[in-house]
Amino acid sequence: MTVENRTLPKGSGVSDEGLTSDVISVRHFFGTRSAPVGLSTHIQLGHIVSGPGEFPAIVALKQIHSTRVVVIHAHRGLGALEQTEGDALVTNQPETLVVVRTADCVPVLLVEKAKGVVGAIHAGWRGAVAGIVAETIRTCVDEFGSKPEHMHLAIGPSIGPCCYEVDEQVINPLRSRYPEWPGVLQETNEGKGVLDLKQLIYHQIRANGVPDSQIGQVNHCTYCRGDLFYSYRREGQVKGTMCSGIILPAA
Ligand SMILES: [Zn+2]
Repeated sequence: MTVENRTLPKGSGVSDEGLTSDVISVRHFFGTRSAPVGLSTHIQLGHIVSGPGEFPAIVALKQIHSTRVVVIHAHRGLGALEQTEGDALVTNQPETLVVVRTADCVPVLLVEKAKGVVGAIHAGWRGAVAGIVAETIRTCVDEFGSKPEHMHLAIGPSIGPCCYEVDEQVINPLRSRYPEWPGVLQETNEGKGVLDLKQLIYHQIRANGVPDSQIGQVNHCTYCRGDLFYSYRREGQVKGTMCSGIILPAA
């Protein structure tokens, strides 16, 4: 792991597995190009598989930029999921690592300790504008009786407004669905703007009832920090993805 502590944004830390957020009190990581070592080779999309020693179960989805949330209930064992596609995973099962993969999209990790629930969200602009974050919070409420005021969410590294110019394809649906939240979109030229996807998600989390003090941000730009992260937009192709995950301890 090559992240130096002095380069870290406020409220974040570093472990052997990647970057961490101070607001999340269970084991979790936002992966980098080099960490966590070997995890991606274990992942089988749409399946629950057993991983290396400390991860008895690992689950990841075929991500499709949707608002589809997949719930892993306590009685699930290893094997294929019935619903293999989706962009968020939530579970109340201990020792089950839920993983999302990103290159410029935003990974968001969630924990609700009162009911013992964790979640991982993949949010690009399509999923974010369509409401994947709200859908995930709502699913935790409906399926597990969690309360938003008991949730902690951390927003991970993604492409920043420094590097994320968007056009009307993004601007129009954003405008029609959301209030003009401060800092989310800054219009530049005719029909163009820069989008701060992490700010959009931050406002969405707040709007769904999670207190400000329980929302963390690990505020690196994946495009700027080629030393740490893959970036689809910088590289012009999928060269690799970062794995971010969260896991409840043994019951
Ligand atoms: Zn940047």
